[in-house]
Amino acid sequence: MATERTLSIIKPDAVKKNVIGQIFAMYEAAGLRIAATRKTFLTKAQAQAFYAVHAERPFYNSLVEFMTSGPVVVSVLEGADAIKKNREVMGATNPAQAAEGTIRKKFADSIEANAVHGSDAPETAAVEVAFFFPASEIY
Ligand code: ADP
Ligand code: MG
Repeated sequence: MATERTLSIIKPDAVKKNVIGQIFAMYEAAGLRIAATRKTFLTKAQAQAFYAVHAERPFYNSLVEFMTSGPVVVSVLEGADAIKKNREVMGATNPAQAAEGTIRKKFADSIEANAVHGSDAPETAAVEVAFFFPASEIY
């Protein structure tokens, strides 16, 4: 299995719940290393650009509002098969469908306020990692 990097965002709902450490522990238990991390507060322009792929979706404006409602934690996770492994530990987008033991089952409130973001493919992971971190800040 290839060593990969993927982008995680701990979303405003989970940051407000004070569960950053619990989510990091779940990444580490899944064999993912935190290669870079930063707490930040997305501007509206950043949230719009990050989720540009969803611009035509009915939930886009609400998603941008939510993602700018409080600070987030952006991280680069690294490990074997990291993109898929992170999607597994995250759980389904809709927490009502998320499996037991996943981050979203444990911490998500709704299909929108669903605790975490994770890149979905190697191409998007590369773009999303570079959106937040220069190579010199990833170890
Ligand atoms: P994922 O985050 O699991 O990759 P998507 O890429 O489909 O899911 O959607 C991006 C984000 O948009 C979701 O994590 C969630 O915050 C929000 N979202 C997705 N679908 C809906 C929906 N039907 N209603 C409201 N928000 C949604
Ligand atoms: Mg997605």
